[in-house]
Amino acid sequence: MVRPFFACVLAVCAAILPVCSDAADAKFVSIPVITDNRIAPRVVYIENPRFPKFTTGELKTVVAGAAHLIKENFGIDVVIPNKISARNIDDVFSKLVGSEPDGFKGLIGDFRHGKVDWETVRKNLIEQIEKQTDPLADQIAFARPYLTRPVEKEDIDSFSKAVVETFDNRLSYWTSAKLHDGNPIIGTVPGRPDYPLNEYGYWTLMARQGIEAEIVLTNQLVASVEYIPVPIHTSLRGGITGGSTEYNPSSALGASVWVTLFPYVSDDPEIRALRSGDTYTRKDALSYASAMLAHEMGHQLLHLGHPWSTPACLMRPAEALDFAAWTAKFDPAKCPVGSSPAMTPGTDEVPIW
Ligand SMILES: [Zn+2]
Repeated sequence: MVRPFFACVLAVCAAILPVCSDAADAKFVSIPVITDNRIAPRVVYIENPRFPKFTTGELKTVVAGAAHLIKENFGIDVVIPNKISARNIDDVFSKLVGSEPDGFKGLIGDFRHGKVDWETVRKNLIEQIEKQTDPLADQIAFARPYLTRPVEKEDIDSFSKAVVETFDNRLSYWTSAKLHDGNPIIGTVPGRPDYPLNEYGYWTLMARQGIEAEIVLTNQLVASVEYIPVPIHTSLRGGITGGSTEYNPSSALGASVWVTLFPYVSDDPEIRALRSGDTYTRKDALSYASAMLAHEMGHQLLHLGHPWSTPACLMRPAEALDFAAWTAKFDPAKCPVGSSPAMTPGTDEVPIW
């Protein structure tokens, strides 16, 4: 996904962002020049010791699976690195906290303390609903299986209220659901520093601060709410972000991608509800994570968009977290580069902030 944290707000409320005070000044990452159709990305694994862990072998399997899909879909060779450096998540976040630009924290909804201005979230959502080319009835039909309560009337007001309530329910769930250590999946944990590990904005900031990698993998769940236009499908899954592509001045490709592996290996009931009740074998989980990584790298390498109307495309986002259904539909022959506006290189721009 390309969900530019600051750039999304540029046109909406640029005044709070002195770093990009004029939308006309917005700059974007250039499409990388890929010599000999070959890239050799550096991979970093950021580990939260509380969450399910991954071996170096498993991480390499994820990268190798993505490399296979990238070759098949885009004709680019990805060299698998010999070494994947592992970093403790607290060390990484200790350098992010305290270095936020002005206006940054004001974009984050404090759901951990029940202090989210959901009416603002709803207004942003209405904008997103109105922007879609699909008629409202189709959008409601798409959302219906994932809503935590029915839509009262088939109008935008009732629909947006049901989506925002679902967002709120699913997101706040993580503050009470627990990991095997008996502590909340998102929340304060005795003996550990209280960093905003689950906040999407900080993963964007990590890239902007120039983490030295083209690919960042993590076992941390990233789920949050921001006062920026959030897509409907992200709202329906309670603000879970599976990964994104972000401006990174240290990346040889101009942007780095990050992907969380948690949604593939977790059997939490909330995660399972978003994947039609499925549980995944470890092998399948790693293979679905590869698909997500390859999807993000489609944004990173070619700046491709989201071809919503072609389910055969790797670049079409997954429904909720139903990765088995998503990957089963892939057919590179039906979705070559250049086959639709969204599949045209340069469609999706990664903002520099
Ligand atoms: Zn995407």
